[in-house]
Amino acid sequence: SAALVDVDPGVSRTIRNEVQRQRQQVELIASENIVSRAVLEAQGCAFTNKYAEGYPGKRYYGGCEHADVVESLAITRLCELFGARFANVQPHSGAQANTAVMLALLQPGDTVLGMALAAGGHLTHGAKPALSGKWFNAVQYGVRREDSLIDYDEVERLALEHRPKLIIAGFSAYPRVVDWARFRRIADQVGATLMVDMAHVAGLVAAGVYPSPLPHAHVTTSTTHKTLRGPRGGVILTDDEAIAKKINSAVFPGAQGGPLMHVIAAKAVAFAEALQPSFKRYAQQVVANARAFGEELAAGGLALATGGTDNHLLLVDLRPLGLKGNQVEVALERAGITCNKNGIPFDTEKPTVTSGIRVGTAACTTRGFGEGEFREVAGLMLEVLHALRQRPDGDADVEASVNERVKGLTARFPIYA
Ligand code: PLP
Repeated sequence: SAALVDVDPGVSRTIRNEVQRQRQQVELIASENIVSRAVLEAQGCAFTNKYAEGYPGKRYYGGCEHADVVESLAITRLCELFGARFANVQPHSGAQANTAVMLALLQPGDTVLGMALAAGGHLTHGAKPALSGKWFNAVQYGVRREDSLIDYDEVERLALEHRPKLIIAGFSAYPRVVDWARFRRIADQVGATLMVDMAHVAGLVAAGVYPSPLPHAHVTTSTTHKTLRGPRGGVILTDDEAIAKKINSAVFPGAQGGPLMHVIAAKAVAFAEALQPSFKRYAQQVVANARAFGEELAAGGLALATGGTDNHLLLVDLRPLGLKGNQVEVALERAGITCNKNGIPFDTEKPTVTSGIRVGTAACTTRGFGEGEFREVAGLMLEVLHALRQRPDGDADVEASVNERVKGLTARFPIYA
């Protein structure tokens, strides 16, 4: 059959443009990464045609023998990676994984205790506009005003007061180590189930450079596409057989229909990659890069929430330079550097404005950046930011000059060459 470029030149061109964008921009979005060609190839394979409702050996469709092999491989590798007994690799996304856990363990109206979005939690942890906040009685904890660290005393107080059935630990924008054991002690005090959503740090956990929540959580969820560097998707892990059974029924037929077998094939490839010694070195470099990047940004006059980082991300407080997150996000994009505006703890600006940006090192570390390159990126960002102070709409000359240097830097670390 005909190639994409002949069938649909418009889409083909747009895909080429996107690859070119990724080649030429410095990607600092903390939830993104750059997957291997092997992962891309697996995801673009003929498993996309296959219906495989059910689980390996127990399907509702014929012709699943190869689907069974690839899903079993993904499950075995994932269990090995995190030292878990049971895994479900079918959630289409991180949000789907979290929804399935709620469907498995809760009734509508039950109380859940999760981290507030504004403090660095995720929508699926009980935020008002999300299913988790609409269908459950969601109570939210935050961070301390004095140091932006999780307020464990508040978590304990809220747990004792509201008696949640489920406590959710995990984050989208928190640059520090979480005390998983403390969360478990609090859950045990009130008879709650502890779910940890390790989406952001899963790759660091797999590599042993960030504490694993698995010894502490009753159930652990994750995305597969952030620091873990796999295809977009979700997974659920547990050691508890009774919970595992409920989770399997909640994913299918509870929340989803047919699994995305091509994505599961790509997950299997990514898990095998993460089991390699080179992935450990990668994750160590991700953390070292984040530290160096933070030091350089702070030296340039920016503040860092919590004062620094233990993982792959930094929450940059722009107030010392008198700038806003929305303004900085677009100015950096014009200069070839992508990140996202992000509220900082106790932000007084609207979520569409914000006083901060969130940056991460996972993607550029994959393409080979070390501490030196991240210091260089910090310098380029500071040039754009200092120019913005003079011209709030952006200094076109400075941004163009930085963009040229970004192109030079990214050309030294080619991707998908
Ligand atoms: N959980 C956390 C902690 C996240 O940061 C995210 C995504 O940003 C999700 C869940 C949702 O993942 P997805 O976008 O795949 O639904």
